[in-house]
Amino acid sequence: MDLLTPSDAERLHPSGLIYLANVMRPKQDIGRWSQALRQWRPPRTPLRVHLENNSLDEHDAAEILQAIGGDVQAGYLHHNNIRSLEPLTPFIEQHWETLKELHLSHNRLSTTETKALLLLLGCTKVSAAGAETAGSCSWLRLEFNHIDVDGLLEQLPSQIKNRLQLGDRGCTPRHCCCQGRRYTKHIHCKFLTEQRTIMPEHKIHHRDQRREPAPSRSRCQDDEETQDNPKTVT
Ligand SMILES: [Zn+2]
Ligand SMILES: [Zn+2]
Repeated sequence: MDLLTPSDAERLHPSGLIYLANVMRPKQDIGRWSQALRQWRPPRTPLRVHLENNSLDEHDAAEILQAIGGDVQAGYLHHNNIRSLEPLTPFIEQHWETLKELHLSHNRLSTTETKALLLLLGCTKVSAAGAETAGSCSWLRLEFNHIDVDGLLEQLPSQIKNRLQLGDRGCTPRHCCCQGRRYTKHIHCKFLTEQRTIMPEHKIHHRDQRREPAPSRSRCQDDEETQDNPKTVT
């Protein structure tokens, strides 16, 4: 059974690029792509998964992400309709050691959800041999959600708060040029302070009933986030 057209199949690239931005308008596309991803044999290289601009909620995004074998290095989920982290937690836990970048700007995350995300990404784990490891996330985009940034920073444990780099020091997802980078593994969250209206948790869920119009495709501040364009798929 051919789930994918030849041009669809090109979106799953041997280089590790999975380019599914802007393709999942109708709901049935989610089932089709998650089935196709389950059948796809991923390359051994780290995967970069583009799911931006699809109006996905957290359950849709989780369904797609969970279908991907291989090690995910970057998840591009910006410009979707993600309000809750819980469905995405198994994915984040599974790829905790390889996931360097997570792009979640222009979604509907609340302060509480963001705190849970940072606790998950910023925690340390102790291996069976007793060695302490930190998650590898160093690039997190969270602007234009519903986050009360001051409230968030107040609630975070200092060991995570101290790792956050909110300013733009010229770092990129692949290179940190912060002072003290040898001692502190930064989690870069530039533009975090730019948020939509802060709303109480229940209101965010309520708004879910009437879906907002599809997000605009303006490039605004997503330059880095959109650097992999379909032309990279050859
Ligand atoms: Zn839900
Ligand atoms: Zn840095």
